[in-house]
Amino acid sequence: MRLVVLFVLLVGATAQGESQRPNILLIVGDDMGYADVGVHGCKDIPTPHIDSIAKNGVRCSSGYVSGPYCSPTRAALLTGRYQQRFGHEFNPGPPVEANIGVGLSLKEKTLADRLKDAGYATALVGKWHLGHDKKFHPLNRGFQEYFGFLGGAHSYTNAKADGNNPVMRGFDVIDEKEYLTDAFAREALAFIDRNKSKPFFLYLAFNAVHAPLQAPPKYRDRFADITDQRRRTYAAMMSAMDDAIGRVLGTLKENKLEENTLVFFISDNGGPPVNGSTNGTLRGYKASTWEGGIRVPFLFQWKGHLPAGKVYDRPVIQLDFPSTALAAAGVKTEEKLDGVNLLPYLTGKQKGAPHDALYWRFGQQMAIRKGDWKLVKGGRGNAIVEKPLLINLAKDIGEQNDLSEKEPKKVAELHAAWDKWNAELIPAQWKPAPARQANRANRANRPLAN
Ligand code: CA
Repeated sequence: MRLVVLFVLLVGATAQGESQRPNILLIVGDDMGYADVGVHGCKDIPTPHIDSIAKNGVRCSSGYVSGPYCSPTRAALLTGRYQQRFGHEFNPGPPVEANIGVGLSLKEKTLADRLKDAGYATALVGKWHLGHDKKFHPLNRGFQEYFGFLGGAHSYTNAKADGNNPVMRGFDVIDEKEYLTDAFAREALAFIDRNKSKPFFLYLAFNAVHAPLQAPPKYRDRFADITDQRRRTYAAMMSAMDDAIGRVLGTLKENKLEENTLVFFISDNGGPPVNGSTNGTLRGYKASTWEGGIRVPFLFQWKGHLPAGKVYDRPVIQLDFPSTALAAAGVKTEEKLDGVNLLPYLTGKQKGAPHDALYWRFGQQMAIRKGDWKLVKGGRGNAIVEKPLLINLAKDIGEQNDLSEKEPKKVAELHAAWDKWNAELIPAQWKPAPARQANRANRANRPLAN
């Protein structure tokens, strides 16, 4: 009898506590151009739902990713640590070529591991790209549910197009019939519906707008005025993703979960030239440490907890997300992460910069940003690059004016800080496979004509 009373009391206490722990919704776009959202000035592709996250929350105008490439960015996004600390410097390669030992280090805890241990319902819907072997599978990395594909890209219209990289539910291969972006929205809605009465962590990782360029007429028809067919299909894919995000945000509203859900949206890297994206005034593309490779749309929403319509200008980075989400969830970590809990900065309670400096290493490329200053060796894929340029981003967001001759002391200061960080890293645990990847990067980063 006393046990029953205790049980009732415990259940009551848990329900009470859980009602106050926010849901965590992490939405990632893939290979989006920096300038391809309305809040960054895009005119030809309406993105009302992505824009609504900024309008209802905080847009970080100097929001970065630590990798200019898909898999490295995701490794740091889920661990809260610079991915080079555990050798995840490059993509693991296509499924058919990836060694079974290549994936997110099993020594690393993911955000999903931590939130699952804290009692959250966890799911990944979408692209994984952190290893193909079973030991790296999302269901073995803290996610209780999984719907998506394990590789770096996928057909949107044919679930069986890539036999090595099928669409899966859990460990089971399925034959998805819907346009993949629509299917991801459907699965996200179903997960939220099943878990709306308890705290959940949903990682919604679209492969849109990564190649291949595929969109059904219902989305392409919206952009009949765009004459460049590549841009038109890209616009259709963006529009489909924006609709999908609208459906997910809509279900939060319908279920009165907006004030109890922390939403974060980024692209995993800058736009590449191949998909019709544009990074606007930023120099370079995906696969470079120029701004065009690493500065991305970076938006938070948490109604009632974060201000609405605020623009936050201090440099922040995607590996801040685990620290931010864990703080929101009231989960403590024993290990020291590289990320910072951004909540007090976004609300204005905490002044000053979250980071002394941000750092990049991608093969021979490097960069460090400290305040408005950036020292960068970028733009040549995996080839050897020349001496670093010193840029003042406050005056030169397009990275055109090298001030290294004028400011040798600043160069030395930034180089010393980068060297110190670099000395803490380990070598890349696998090569940037295969050669065509390097070639693509080289093509993507041809120097500007000037
Ligand atoms: Ca990407």
